[in-house]
Amino acid sequence: DSEDESIDKQLKIVIIGDGASGKTSLTTRYAQEQFGKQYKQTVGIDFFLRRIVLPGNVNVALQVWDIGGQTLGGGMLDKYLYGAHGVLLVYDITNYSSFENLEDWLVVVRRVFENEGKMPHRALVGNKVDLEHMRTVKLDKHQKFAQENGMSSHFVSAKTGDSVNLCFQKIAAEILGIT
Ligand code: GDP
Repeated sequence: DSEDESIDKQLKIVIIGDGASGKTSLTTRYAQEQFGKQYKQTVGIDFFLRRIVLPGNVNVALQVWDIGGQTLGGGMLDKYLYGAHGVLLVYDITNYSSFENLEDWLVVVRRVFENEGKMPHRALVGNKVDLEHMRTVKLDKHQKFAQENGMSSHFVSAKTGDSVNLCFQKIAAEILGIT
């Protein structure tokens, strides 16, 4: 039982991106293995902790932060991002502008970490793959953007849960240099 094992590392993970891209759904799905439940409004917390075990029996506590309704100009954004080890830049594969706007979200990340020194791991996350038939962001656009900006690349569905655990697992492993 992993509850009895001590934590080797704690990582702060922050989820950003346009409104309606599915940030809260993704966070909720990962936190509670369900879709559509408004944990945040009811409990009023900014983050949750989830323990995972990585190869080599490394116990990791992931502190996952959902920025909620914060927009690009949001005053709290810097505080959310502060000290992050990983940032998930989430867009909706059926909404091209949510993809395009990640340029601006990256600008915010760079600005916040300019003075902190080390940039966090950046993960490009295309959400809503259950709506593949409505995709407007072509795969090569996604891959090119990830490559040009040194981001890891992921596709998930917060709705079905497809690849959600895997996505966080891979990001944590990459941050810690575990392969
Ligand atoms: P946020 O504003 O980025 O936090 O986005 P929300 O989590 O509130 O989601 C916005 C809308 O997209 C809601 O209606 C969700 O039910 C829907 N949604 C989120 N993730 C998915 C997904 O993976 N697939 C589908 N089909 N809808 C999703």
